[in-house]
Amino acid sequence: MCIFCEIIAGNIPSTKVYEDDMILAFKDINPVAPVHIIVVPKEHIESAADINESNSKYVAHIFEKLPEIAKSQGIESYRIINNCGEDAGQTVKHLHFHLVGGVKMGEKII
Ligand code: AMP
Ligand code: ZN
Repeated sequence: MCIFCEIIAGNIPSTKVYEDDMILAFKDINPVAPVHIIVVPKEHIESAADINESNSKYVAHIFEKLPEIAKSQGIESYRIINNCGEDAGQTVKHLHFHLVGGVKMGEKII
């Protein structure tokens, strides 16, 4: 199992901030901003390059819930980041979106 599947299964601890039957959101272990949440589908999808007609409902659901998750963390302005593949810096091969905020961000990526 990949590390995020282990977190979903409850085998590795995490600080959960939102969970339902399709997705899980938890605090990033190495935050780059005051708010840094990782949002994952509960189905293992390797990367954004593996989104297809049968699993895109997870992505839609993540984006439907992101404003609520952000609000629960006290922010209404935020950056959503996905690293797809090794050159883009994807280190965990389970599709995830970084929800980053709580600080004034410039033009840099993070
Ligand atoms: P990426 O580089 O886009 O693949 O992002 C992976 C993210 O997962 C990094 O920001 C890590 O800090 C984070 N991460 C790795 N392991 C854990 C963990 N056990 N709990 C929470 N976040 C984690
Ligand atoms: Zn996984």
